[in-house]
Amino acid sequence: MYKRLLIVGFLIILALSLSAKPRIVILATGGTIAGSASGAAQASYQPGVLSIQQIIASVPDIEQLAELKGIQVCNISSQNMEERIWLELFKTIDNLFTHDLCDGVVITHGTDTMEETAYFLNLTVRHTKPIVITGAMRPATSLSADGPFNLYNAVALASSPEAQNRGVMVVMNDYILSADDVTKTNTVNPNAFSCPNYGPLGIMRDGLPIFFRESPFRHTASSEFNITNIVSLPKTEIIYSYAFASDVAINAIVDSGADGIVVAGVGHGNYNRAISKGLEKAFARGIMVVRSSRIAAGGVDQAAEEYDTRWPVSYNKNPQKARILLMLALTKSKDSKEIQRIFKEY
Ligand code: ASP
Repeated sequence: MYKRLLIVGFLIILALSLSAKPRIVILATGGTIAGSASGAAQASYQPGVLSIQQIIASVPDIEQLAELKGIQVCNISSQNMEERIWLELFKTIDNLFTHDLCDGVVITHGTDTMEETAYFLNLTVRHTKPIVITGAMRPATSLSADGPFNLYNAVALASSPEAQNRGVMVVMNDYILSADDVTKTNTVNPNAFSCPNYGPLGIMRDGLPIFFRESPFRHTASSEFNITNIVSLPKTEIIYSYAFASDVAINAIVDSGADGIVVAGVGHGNYNRAISKGLEKAFARGIMVVRSSRIAAGGVDQAAEEYDTRWPVSYNKNPQKARILLMLALTKSKDSKEIQRIFKEY
């Protein structure tokens, strides 16, 4: 009798643990996914209006995927993203995972700087549990709003055992995109994001991920960047290169006390004499310079003799991602060879 009760009890516990839904925390930061327009077909709207509870309530069947908890971190347009919010996101996620308070995290975010937040967390949150970022190109009040399905897919992905240890992922328009390569390539279309160097990690289909590939770079649990005790990050800026660029911007950056500069070069990371002179000044003052490119794909390497090999190159990190990697690299080293090693590995 006792033995039978024990077996039944064991079976009940087993059934409960099998049926228990994954615990997903949604950290909401604002953006168009929380946006509202006065008309259903209107192009202009106000981002960051709806609360995370209102957004969750607008997605049919989402509660069937997971035990959801929404936390409103902020409600901003992501062009106004701040270092303070990045550090808060990092600390919140690190805390949730360290104390096993959830199985995965979804972040709702404006699309303008989504790729930057994704890459920052990809380099700093040293855990294997899934982190998925999503947003919308159309406000919540729009005809065919894309936010609800994007959020459904993001929660489904974060709930999937297959999403473990893949680095931070962006889910938009059914695509699963890796934080190290994803970039916004269309300013208005719902199919606004792509991975120009490596292609998507996979797609979402019927609420399940189908993965095509893995990221070839170090991320999350294998990252060497420990920012647990950091209260502010090194100051890094981007200088844009174009036909007959003047020295106004580069001189202002050099004089501003920046710790590092990323060059968004033309072509394979080139810049003209005016910028070159400014970079010489930067070099003399011990400011780290990294050569990147304003071109979407292909990257920048040290191969050709036309270039100044004193500066590390960003390989295929675009300037906005190179800036983030540089700020984290500078928390560890000011040696250009070491910075180059970091750019190769991340
Ligand atoms: N400006 C908005 C933002 O990034 C655009 C969007 O969410 O799509 O917050």
